[in-house]
Amino acid sequence: MTVADALEEARASLALHEARLLLRHVLGVTAAALEAHPERKVSPADTAAFRALVARRAAGEPVAYLTGRREFYGLDFRVTPDVLIPREETELLVDLALETQAARILDLGTGSGCLAIAVAKQRPQAAVTAADASAAALAVARDNAVRHGVNIRFLQGDWFAPLAGERFDLILANPPYVAERDPHLARGDVRFEPRSALAAGADGLDDIRRIAAQAPAHLVPGGQLCFEHGYDQAAAAAALLAEAGFIGIEQRRDLAGILRVSGGRHP
Ligand code: GLN
Repeated sequence: MTVADALEEARASLALHEARLLLRHVLGVTAAALEAHPERKVSPADTAAFRALVARRAAGEPVAYLTGRREFYGLDFRVTPDVLIPREETELLVDLALETQAARILDLGTGSGCLAIAVAKQRPQAAVTAADASAAALAVARDNAVRHGVNIRFLQGDWFAPLAGERFDLILANPPYVAERDPHLARGDVRFEPRSALAAGADGLDDIRRIAAQAPAHLVPGGQLCFEHGYDQAAAAAALLAEAGFIGIEQRRDLAGILRVSGGRHP
């Protein structure tokens, strides 16, 4: 069977772009190589491997976990079911970080490390620290940092727990923010992602409350906190920032036009 035949067969159960990602993964080729050679022969072993992946995808497993990779901010990241799959909207936090001149940057709940690594890549002079409660996630993040040749200090612990007495110019976070009972958690790719990276109490704001309340003790005067939140949490996020004493509160829309990131300055 050829590349074209394999893709045609997979199209019965999946979208073409997903079939292409899975076939590229099996063959170990670039998008351009796959595109350029539809007549290329796929060996029986590769055909079997591809069919197995197509079946798993059709049963719901995220493509990123099947291939073990996901692109974020133009960089290729390794992902496993121990980490949240990087989302396009989270690139907003990288853009915001790069608008600052922050020298000491903290990424809380780093997961795959995508945020910390994308920032460190663009700001090689900055001292970037990334923390996560999950040892398994930190192993993935460390591996990604090595792959991208960036020097990041990784710490394990719950939010600010491993950071006693430390202050930063900028704190970034993509914390869990989905409400515990949100039906969204039972649908699509999200079902396969770590619960601890997604859900945060009855209203989804448990972790954002803790981060906003504790961040001032870890920011220099004028330092900034910026975090991602849910589509309907912008008002609550601004209120929590104000309550914690933040000034200059700013909110940004994602590509879908949803207020997705909120931030403020520690006076
Ligand atoms: N945006 C993700 C979702 O809706 C949630 C990511 C997160 O909780 N940080 O599935």
